[in-house]
Amino acid sequence: MKSVWLTEKNVNQYPKINKSCTKNIVVVGGGIAGYLTAFNLSQKGHEVTLIEAQNLFNGTTGFTTAHIDALHSLFYKDLQKMSTDKARLYYWSQKNAIDDYESLIKKYNIQCDFKRVDSFILAQQQDVQKLKKEYEALKAIGEHPDFFVSTDIFGENMCALKVPFMAIFDPIKFLRALPVNFEIFENSRITDVDFNNKILYCGKIAIKANKIIIATNYPIINVPGWYFLRMYKSTSYAVSVKSKTELTKIYQSTSESGITLRSNNDQLIVGGLDHRTGRVDDTTKYQTLLKKVQTIEQNASITHHWSANDCVTFDGIPFIGYYSKKSKDIYVITGFSKYGMANALTASKVISDLIEKKPNKYQKLFSPSRTTPLFVFLKNLLSVVSNLVIMPLILPFKSYKSLKKGEGRIVMYFGSKRAVYKDEKGKYHVCQALCAHLKCQLKFNMVDKTWDCPCHGSRFDIDGNLLVGPSVKSLKNYPN
Ligand SMILES: Cc1cc2nc3c(=O)[nH]c(=O)nc-3n(C[C@H](O)[C@H](O)[C@H](O)COP(=O)(O)OP(=O)(O)OC[C@H]3O[C@@H](n4cnc5c(N)ncnc54)[C@H](O)[C@@H]3O)c2cc1C
Repeated sequence: MKSVWLTEKNVNQYPKINKSCTKNIVVVGGGIAGYLTAFNLSQKGHEVTLIEAQNLFNGTTGFTTAHIDALHSLFYKDLQKMSTDKARLYYWSQKNAIDDYESLIKKYNIQCDFKRVDSFILAQQQDVQKLKKEYEALKAIGEHPDFFVSTDIFGENMCALKVPFMAIFDPIKFLRALPVNFEIFENSRITDVDFNNKILYCGKIAIKANKIIIATNYPIINVPGWYFLRMYKSTSYAVSVKSKTELTKIYQSTSESGITLRSNNDQLIVGGLDHRTGRVDDTTKYQTLLKKVQTIEQNASITHHWSANDCVTFDGIPFIGYYSKKSKDIYVITGFSKYGMANALTASKVISDLIEKKPNKYQKLFSPSRTTPLFVFLKNLLSVVSNLVIMPLILPFKSYKSLKKGEGRIVMYFGSKRAVYKDEKGKYHVCQALCAHLKCQLKFNMVDKTWDCPCHGSRFDIDGNLLVGPSVKSLKNYPN
């Protein structure tokens, strides 16, 4: 699984942290959110250290499709129901971020394939009313979209809404070209946080900090914050194919599967098919995306395919600000809800202004301490009950002997319940069956051959090595 953005050059550039130390501002997480925040703060003269668990940008950022788009499917019609001012403010946070990217790219003369494009939202004819409502909401917040009753795309007749002057880029080329005036450690996973004393632990190494920013995509501190009850993790897929057609438009659809489309020089990238992480058993995702793109490029074949996860908040607005009311020195950036490109740049500014005690018009909008409705907590609790409480108590009916080659499942293995994968050579890979985060029962992902947590979205390879948090530990592996 390789995305179009991650190339061989992107590995092991920075050292591992190797001794206990005291730092000023520590950013945990080297994705687009953490990196831009470290960059922004360092540009303002702060001493910043960024700590990344693996290699920079190898989290969700390396597996994005990188539309920088203020349109978010049918988001504004719902946001406007809460408040038109809120919807307007959010929209302008996205538009301003696109302009800010362009300014940075010009200022540092960055070659990252940044292009301004028209953005389209596509809806099937039966959803024309919903799209009309989105159109009205956008008009109410001051945008001037075009509405098309009929347009042919993906072999279908759709209705569409268009707003010009959005953008695309190569996020990794962009991030790698920014000047680095801060310290970076790679392959240094934070395994514990002493919230009250502001100490981060990387195994036995202790890092004392004045300020800490948790930008780990899914926050690694469960309490305070309670983010695991206010968001869920969603997986999306993407494929890239060679193409003779270079699009000057980007597309997203309103269907549940949420298809997106863009060009990247001589490639077409189609993404989508979102679902809650660890909850879907479908091995045909990449083929479905290929079929979509073949409606545009007939004989296309896949050159790259990938999947990744992002956190979706209860109201679709990210959490950017103080981690909890308990501390003004610990901050969080999370919950981009699949629209992280513009939001990450906005986040870097909101956090910098909070640290510098400067006003920022977006602080309140993104504040993590905004009220979360009780039903959201309950819904999230209920949605994990089965995998957190019931499934761990049930012994599996099947034994590891029933596994076919290439199959993984929770089975009985010599009298114990285990997560077992049988590889193509017939070798068994045996791990603990419960997630190392909060002990939910894991589920095997047949598409990517990983163990995924259906509760909070941690992912592990077939030998139990941690791939994606919020877990900070790998699974116990039982060699055989
Ligand atoms: C398939 C797909 C397509 C998308 N397309 C778009 C798009 O077109 N436009 C758009 O705006 N958004 C898109 N998104 C969303 C966007 O890519 C994400 O919101 C964004 O990349 C998230 O960035 P991040 O920095 O929060 O997370 P990440 O990139 O995941 O960075 C978090 C980093 O923290 C590190 N980390 C985790 N735990 C620890 C720890 N304990 N110690 C140290 N480091 C740790 C991780 O290794 C990781 O590198 C897409 C998402 C997906 C999945």
